[in-house]
Amino acid sequence: LAYLDYNATAPMRPAAREVTLAAMQTVGNASSTHRSGRDAAQRVDEARHQVADLLNCSPGEIVFTSGATEANNLALRAAHSAGGTVITSTVEHPAVLETAKNLTASAPGTLKLLSVDADGLVDLDGLHDALSAGDVAIVSLMAANNETGVLTDLAPLVEAAHAAGALFHTDATQMVGRLPVDLAEIDVDLLSLSAHKFGGPQGVGALFVRRGISLPYQPLIFGGGQERGWRAGTLNVAGIAGAGAAAAAAHRGLAEESTRVARLRDLLENTLVEQLGDCRINGALDRRLPGVTSITFHGAPADAVLTAMPDVAASEGSACSSGAPSPSHVLLAMGRSREEADSTVRFSLGYASTRADVDQAIASTIRAVRQVRATMAIPI
Ligand code: PLP
Repeated sequence: LAYLDYNATAPMRPAAREVTLAAMQTVGNASSTHRSGRDAAQRVDEARHQVADLLNCSPGEIVFTSGATEANNLALRAAHSAGGTVITSTVEHPAVLETAKNLTASAPGTLKLLSVDADGLVDLDGLHDALSAGDVAIVSLMAANNETGVLTDLAPLVEAAHAAGALFHTDATQMVGRLPVDLAEIDVDLLSLSAHKFGGPQGVGALFVRRGISLPYQPLIFGGGQERGWRAGTLNVAGIAGAGAAAAAAHRGLAEESTRVARLRDLLENTLVEQLGDCRINGALDRRLPGVTSITFHGAPADAVLTAMPDVAASEGSACSSGAPSPSHVLLAMGRSREEADSTVRFSLGYASTRADVDQAIASTIRAVRQVRATMAIPI
């Protein structure tokens, strides 16, 4: 199988698997004060440093969670605890969109969704307009889109939010471990990540909470006060240790890995467009994650294409959020028709992708799209 679905989940990095398994073979609650507990706490501490190193922040600013979904919920809920407007965009992951809708449901008009252009880019003027009404609790805009890979130019958006007295959160789930993220450079207050997107285990993530920001304290889970009260419950020591090891491995190879992956993606994309014709690449071509391509194959519904190439793991719309056959809200927000959205396949590559994966995906996709287009052309 040519696995080209890294935006849904990445295979676990060997170093992460090793560290996770080793931690699973030991006993110890990270809150216990005896030696086993201290060993567990030590593993968590090391992971906290490794994740902080990847982001260039301090370990004390990392709160471990069950993933980016929880981190997004935590960030938005805390920032909104005193009410106010939530500003986000139409192309966010449901973990942000649904949370924002839920938080503002009882006060209509306090959720503002920024639109994007045909390239998937959020408009700075739109943010200025939305901020001008005042009383904005939080602006939440993703760093990289999960369906198209489009990267947001965060700096001017963060500056605008701060000038209006609002907190800024970014869902960086698809960017962390794929491109450098330097929290000394980007002045976001809150950032979410999920370990399984960069080769750690599933079910582990983190919320970065910048030291010194004024964030009303609002845990989602109450109990024993772990993670400085942000998230109660016995820590998932093995998962967290694996997340740390994945962060360290991703950090080490970041520059070479992203260049290599971008070359493979370009080869895939260019060959498919050249050989198949009548395709459209979605998203700003020069502002994308290195491993992602979202391609509309006109005249070929994506579900039929994917079924016709069982040896390739790619996805239709955003497979990481649901199996439901609804059109991609991201592509619709970018102005694509329902038919175009339904004829779009997302290929996402990552650290272990090879030239052989890409060659196989090229051959199978060309065969599948030609076959589906031929079938669609037969009048019923
Ligand atoms: N945010 C983005 C942009 C994502 O792509 C995902 C992927 O599923 C999530 C949040 C949710 O991550 P998780 O399911 O690991 O909580």
